[in-house]
Amino acid sequence: MVAKLTEEKIYDALRTITLPDAEANLVASGAISGLVIKQGHVGFALEIPSALAPQADTIRRQAEGVVRKIDGVLSATAMMTAHSPAGQAPQQASPSQPQHQAQGQPAGARTPHQPARHVIAVASGKGGVGKSTTSINLALALAARGLKTGILDADIYGPSLPRLTGTDQKPESRDGKLIPLQAFGLQMMSIGYLISAENAAIWRGPMVMSALEQMLRDVAWDGLDVLVIDLPPGTGDAQLTLSQRAKLAGAVIVSTPQDLALIDARKGINMFEKTEIPILGILENMSYFICPDCGGRHDIFSSGGAQSEASRLNVPFLGQIPLDMAIRETSDAGTPIVHAQPDSPHSMAYLDIADQLLTQLETSGKSAPKFVFE
Ligand code: ADP
Repeated sequence: MVAKLTEEKIYDALRTITLPDAEANLVASGAISGLVIKQGHVGFALEIPSALAPQADTIRRQAEGVVRKIDGVLSATAMMTAHSPAGQAPQQASPSQPQHQAQGQPAGARTPHQPARHVIAVASGKGGVGKSTTSINLALALAARGLKTGILDADIYGPSLPRLTGTDQKPESRDGKLIPLQAFGLQMMSIGYLISAENAAIWRGPMVMSALEQMLRDVAWDGLDVLVIDLPPGTGDAQLTLSQRAKLAGAVIVSTPQDLALIDARKGINMFEKTEIPILGILENMSYFICPDCGGRHDIFSSGGAQSEASRLNVPFLGQIPLDMAIRETSDAGTPIVHAQPDSPHSMAYLDIADQLLTQLETSGKSAPKFVFE
């Protein structure tokens, strides 16, 4: 019988490692956090001093190696993050947090790579407006148009790709790169495959950024035409930094017709404009309600708010998606509507939006691969 895998066994293994010039082992020095065990798959964050960044890969391999040797461990993944001495600008630290700097790339490490011809982000000013639902259905619509499409769920505080697609496997890694999962013809990666939502939520801001940067950098996407990034909701530093690092070809803003959501959407537009990332358009989600009994249309929030906002701000309006149980139910079942009901009017609406995006991308001259880390 295989002995039960416990957190203590993992900590014990990590206690056998002491970093150069450190007085205490990895665990005692507080370098390990966010430990999660999921059916034999182990993930944790490993924070090292920035001076050791050039050795980050070696340290990571060592830490993953000792954990992998434990009975019952099927795989081990360390998310590396490096901290700088106090005083350097943090990316998202609150005053109560230590000063850390997300250090995506160990000095002199990797050559820039290009995951896709077009990298687009789906953003929203606030959570719950349907950003993830939109991301997956747009990705499926782009794939339905014959494009080799990937989706990166970067919503670290609430990763939803596993639920939306019914996928829960731990990605394999090869040559230090994570192999995307495959479903419905999409290549997919989510922070949710690596760590639990609870652990993601307690990670400090800079560590979150570091993990995301690692996800941007270390996934072995296979010849993608388009990569759709489902950004974390909001318009804070994390979104800004991520958008800049990913060198997006453009962004889609999802909003509901409610005034408050529109105000937040406007902040999103401002954020992208500040960084000179083209706004591909606003999409109004949950625009109107389709009554499941009578099939009638009800404009609960006086739909069309996003359209007038788009024309006021001089950005394209991509279309409306109604509030419909079929959209929620298919998502909850792990088979998004563009896959489950490809001929439905809702799928047609997503396909139409995908076509508009493609036209913009192909004509904007922004199609050069843009995924360079500085
Ligand atoms: P976000 O990513 O913005 O937080 P989600 O995509 O997770 O939002 O959507 C929030 C909830 O609303 C989910 O339960 C989802 O199934 C539901 N939802 C999203 N869009 C629609 C829609 N057009 N019709 C019905 N339900 C929707």
